[in-house]
Amino acid sequence: LSSRASNILSPLGIQGSTALPGLYDGAWRGSGETIVSKCPTTGETLAEVATPTPAEFHEALQKTKEAHVVWRDVPAPRRGEILRQIREALAAKRDVLGQLVSLEMGKIKTEGIGEVQEFVDICDYAVGLSRMMNGRYIASERPGHTILEVPNPLGVVGVLTAFNFPVAVYGWNLSLSLIAGNATMWKPSPTTPLCAIAVTKIIAEVLQANGLPGAIASLAVGDKDVGEAIVESPDVPLVSFTGSEHVGRIVGKNVMSRFGKTILELGGNNASVVMSDADLNLAVPAVFFGAVGTAGQRCTSTRRLYLHRNIADEFLERLAKAYKSVKPGDPLVDGTLLGPLHTASAVATYADTVAHLRDINANVVCGGSKYDAAPFEGGNFVEPTIAIPKTVNTADRIWKTETFAPILNVGVFDELDEAIQWNNSVPQGLSSSLWTRDIRNVGRWIGPSGSDAGIVNVNVGTSGAEIGAAFGGNKSTGWGRESGGDAWKQYVRWSACTVNFSDAAPLAQGVNFSA
Ligand code: NAD
Repeated sequence: LSSRASNILSPLGIQGSTALPGLYDGAWRGSGETIVSKCPTTGETLAEVATPTPAEFHEALQKTKEAHVVWRDVPAPRRGEILRQIREALAAKRDVLGQLVSLEMGKIKTEGIGEVQEFVDICDYAVGLSRMMNGRYIASERPGHTILEVPNPLGVVGVLTAFNFPVAVYGWNLSLSLIAGNATMWKPSPTTPLCAIAVTKIIAEVLQANGLPGAIASLAVGDKDVGEAIVESPDVPLVSFTGSEHVGRIVGKNVMSRFGKTILELGGNNASVVMSDADLNLAVPAVFFGAVGTAGQRCTSTRRLYLHRNIADEFLERLAKAYKSVKPGDPLVDGTLLGPLHTASAVATYADTVAHLRDINANVVCGGSKYDAAPFEGGNFVEPTIAIPKTVNTADRIWKTETFAPILNVGVFDELDEAIQWNNSVPQGLSSSLWTRDIRNVGRWIGPSGSDAGIVNVNVGTSGAEIGAAFGGNKSTGWGRESGGDAWKQYVRWSACTVNFSDAAPLAQGVNFSA
């Protein structure tokens, strides 16, 4: 192992020449197939991880179920205290864990650390929630009666996550799930197992120090077979899935077929709309970050750019200049803005999309190639690309499909309504952003005739959400909401409880059923 990698893995307790166990339910084990964690920057093998056999997985799921029985009776504010300790433990390792995200996923260090900070933030939020997960008292029409709406824990929450946020997305789910009194079974992306193992170790230590079962926060590293086992299990009442639309469609149907609950956080195809009155000093850097940041591998990355005709040339000139200034580099080195794509197959998808852009005679303003020369030959580096297809034809895959790579497609419009129609014409509905100083445009954009996405920003780019509001998208993005807002309400079962304190038992609506 290179010193670049071991300097990050050792402080997180990840080392060893044999395969690391990928299953945790209070004890670490795994004697199934091994998967390999590879560094997307260098191609170096970081570690091998042993996944569970089906029998080991089911045993761990049973332990998680049993752990839930202990955890659900811990009072919520006491659960909050455990979350506070998890928060402290994560914060103490924030920087090195952030570096592990950069090493294994490929995003630049400041974004890797920011991702861990997001987990810390949502723990804070959950601590607050621990005294605020209020039910309701409802007036009854019957004398001496009271109606309550009571939130109770659900049981085991299955959390299936994507590679691109290997820490934060679990954090959003774990925090709300635990605070609501559930135990969690996490299946991370098979290409980011080390992030999952490092996070699970940190949480396990806190649970152990408090005499709580480790299976409150279980982990099963594995491929799609482990995901399917969670999806199909009647012991998992809620499956929170983050990933592609393709897999989300399968997961959604399968969980529904056993009448389980889902939270689906799927692909995005996010647009920025720039009006003629926009402040380009704000809009150009925001679109640059939205489209190039994380090498275009955020669900909220800016993939479509709609420019008002009056500012289109100037905007593109300034944006192309920013693009040309960006140099690829090791995401762990300060100052790097462009890291690699996560896998070689993502590079192939990028190349295929660029080839399609050329086929439809789009004007490829900049980018379009892989970086193959030293020192990038071992990594998955590609040039951020701006393309202007001939028309905004939303039947073409260029506009309606999420390509998980730094490719930005540009269209030019004359009226805001045309841009809103383009914004809404794709299957996905995650994030959107309007740049304007005119309050009338804002009203239209955020109102009933405006953007149909789950995130509708004004003078703020499409990516980089905070944890306070519920996060999620509409349409084929899956309608899920996570993180802040009312998202916690999905992690409980709601009971409507009518209580009769009186000496009579009248029926509702005045129904008379006496003989
Ligand atoms: P993916 O769909 O390939 O994999 C996601 C997870 O599903 C992985 O853990 C994978 O092992 C598992 N899986 C695969 N097949 C399965 C099956 N049949 N049953 C159960 N689980 C299965 O996604 P990815 O490539 O890791 O991530 C990129 C995608 O995630 C992009 O589309 C991106 O937009 C999306 N994403 C969305 C959000 C959001 O909040 N909306 C956030 C991050 C990423």
